[in-house]
Amino acid sequence: MKNIDVLVIGAGPSGTVASTYLANQGYNVMVVEKTSFPRYVIGESLLPLSMGHFEEVGLLPYLEEPNFVVKEGALFIKDGKEFRISFDDNFTEGWTWTWQVPRRQFDKALADAAEKKGVNIKYLSTLNSIDFSSEEAVKFEVNTQQGIEEYSCKYVIDSSGYGGVLTRMLEIPVHVSPTSNMATYVKLKDDTRDQWENPTQISFEILETDLWLWVIPFHNSNTSLGFVGNKKYFSDFVKDGADTTAAFNKMFDRSIKFKERFQGRELLWEPTVHTDYMRSSDKFFGDRFVLTGNTTEFLDPVFSSGVAFATESGLSAAKLVARELKGEKIDWQKEYVEHLEYGIDVFRTYVKEWYTGDLQKIFFHVNINSLMKKQLTSVLAGYVWDKSNPFVRKHKTIINTLAQVVDIEKMKA
Ligand SMILES: Cc1cc2nc3c(=O)[nH]c(=O)nc-3n(C[C@H](O)[C@H](O)[C@H](O)COP(=O)(O)OP(=O)(O)OC[C@H]3O[C@@H](n4cnc5c(N)ncnc54)[C@H](O)[C@@H]3O)c2cc1C
Repeated sequence: MKNIDVLVIGAGPSGTVASTYLANQGYNVMVVEKTSFPRYVIGESLLPLSMGHFEEVGLLPYLEEPNFVVKEGALFIKDGKEFRISFDDNFTEGWTWTWQVPRRQFDKALADAAEKKGVNIKYLSTLNSIDFSSEEAVKFEVNTQQGIEEYSCKYVIDSSGYGGVLTRMLEIPVHVSPTSNMATYVKLKDDTRDQWENPTQISFEILETDLWLWVIPFHNSNTSLGFVGNKKYFSDFVKDGADTTAAFNKMFDRSIKFKERFQGRELLWEPTVHTDYMRSSDKFFGDRFVLTGNTTEFLDPVFSSGVAFATESGLSAAKLVARELKGEKIDWQKEYVEHLEYGIDVFRTYVKEWYTGDLQKIFFHVNINSLMKKQLTSVLAGYVWDKSNPFVRKHKTIINTLAQVVDIEKMKA
């Protein structure tokens, strides 16, 4: 049996940030990853918040080489009106840009960088069994290409995303919310983009209050197009014998801003359809284990919060694990769960108020005050733990109240 300090399950953004932090601290960390990289995963629009995490653990320099498209803000479009945010205009001090990334390439760069920083990643491997019954060590078996290997460790971080490895093995309930939304997306060649204004601008076009389109151009001349919205718009995608390409093209016909640029372009694959992605685990930690990233919670694609939450939780968990391994008593509920839940709660409000239409009303209101815009921009950059920002601190009421003010102003006009 081989001994290691920490087992991390999953080499996505959450697992690589967590494992690299611990390797930097001198711990012997092994990541067990089911697939071989590059592998498929969705989630291409990052938030500035994550840049600080990559920088803190020393992964950032390795991510610069592919020349990913820099995301300096975002453009929202509805009924011919445009609302542009720039992360330069952040209320919270922090990163003012990030990247928009093909995740296959980005996650491979992240995982390769983690290995260079001393993390041992075992690809094409899964956890066969895990046993927390001994107080001395956690014992586990890994299924590898070469057969079963036995290990012991002091701590386990589960960053397996939708794999939910520990939630399944330890029978921790995971609530899959019966969300009314679903998503579909494709990539296409966008190699004549230079004829368009701001060709690499990430954009979100709202077709209905509860149906929107993302446009995410990449450095490799491909662009990702995706729709997210109420299931009622997606019947053509899910019926028996559905032709998802035809359904996607029909939906895309509704775009006003992007129809001319992308219509008739060959799709690089058949549209993938994602449903029931909103989920939350009952427990975020237990005796010698902690869950991070998507394994704990995922809300909605609308504010691109998935990777930001994955890196925030990965780094927070790793710091607490390091302290505990040094003998400190950690209050996981207070220092981990309550911290994460605060940010999740803020994002949850913004997701809710997006789909009620209240947030959209504020975005497209002509007189949006410049301080308020800065504060909103900060939330959209991922700084949802900055309680000096009223759009964070008063998130439960501020959007709804402002939307009512917009309504009153509209009535007066
Ligand atoms: C429609 C849609 C659109 C989205 N758009 C965005 C976006 O624009 N921006 C954004 O930030 N987020 C987006 N997300 C969310 C994003 O995909 C995730 O939040 C993010 O990838 C989570 O990172 P992670 O490290 O927690 O998990 P993952 O990136 O999923 O990594 C988990 C890793 O664990 C591995 N694994 C799984 N099972 C096992 C196992 N049994 N054993 C070993 N390893 C295992 C997987 O192979 C994977 O490599 C979107 C999600 C959806 C559904």
